[in-house]
Amino acid sequence: MNKLIPLALAFWPALSHADSLNIVVDVAPVRALVRSVAGDSASVTPLVGPSADPHAMALRPSQIRTLARADLIVATSPQLTPWLVDVLHAVVPSTPVVWLDHDHLDEEAGQHDHDDHSSHAEEDPHLWMDLEIASELTEDLAKTLAALRPEDAAKFAAAEASSQATLRQEAAQFAAFMDRFGPRAVVVSHNSWSAVSDAFGLNVVGYMSDGHHAAPGPAHVAQLRKKVADLGVRCFVKHPNEPAATFAPLNLDDTAILVSANPEGEPAPGTITVLPALMETLQNCHDQDQ
Ligand SMILES: [Zn+2]
Repeated sequence: MNKLIPLALAFWPALSHADSLNIVVDVAPVRALVRSVAGDSASVTPLVGPSADPHAMALRPSQIRTLARADLIVATSPQLTPWLVDVLHAVVPSTPVVWLDHDHLDEEAGQHDHDDHSSHAEEDPHLWMDLEIASELTEDLAKTLAALRPEDAAKFAAAEASSQATLRQEAAQFAAFMDRFGPRAVVVSHNSWSAVSDAFGLNVVGYMSDGHHAAPGPAHVAQLRKKVADLGVRCFVKHPNEPAATFAPLNLDDTAILVSANPEGEPAPGTITVLPALMETLQNCHDQDQ
């Protein structure tokens, strides 16, 4: 090993510049945020595929190998992917990990001084929807990538600045849309949009399964059925991978408008958050509910 170091150092700048960084992330929306800062300096691989469920999955051997080759890992929170923490400890104990859920990081380091961003992480672990957390992530990424690749520090800083601008733009567009959409009541298939409700006032009045995809009990269904009737809910948002029958326990009539939006899906081309795609979906409810 020792003999190799002088040789490696001789090529270091060349090596580091030629080699694309390997970054592994948990879900597609996080990949979009990471790519917006890392740009062409990295290949970014999500562990959770389009038809997989981040709340409960097992990695294939090929994915374990991908993880083992990672220079950096970016993940949301242990609440979203409970299976991932042990895998990281077992497979890549010394690879740097950037968590969206700062509290987890602090818990591991025994500190507790962050704003309580992830107050809803327990109930709804889809933290990339919280644009403050997304913005903090791009900041953390620019710093972490600059540490891994100092010669590109200026590039990462510039990319972070444009990523922040894009986050503000997508937030402004969604806020303008919500002015038109208003307080229209919405029921969703799983509890994944609470950050959007908190930040933009999306009136989610209920969900079938909780933020971890646990199936609803009969009492929960009965309560939700009553709420739908009392509030005259017509807009029902399900995950694209879920069947239309997802809402069957609510005995909806034919005035119900069923639309699909993917909280864990790839953002629309040219965008870095799930908001533009969600806006398109809700637009369907708006148009049909005139
Ligand atoms: Zn989910």
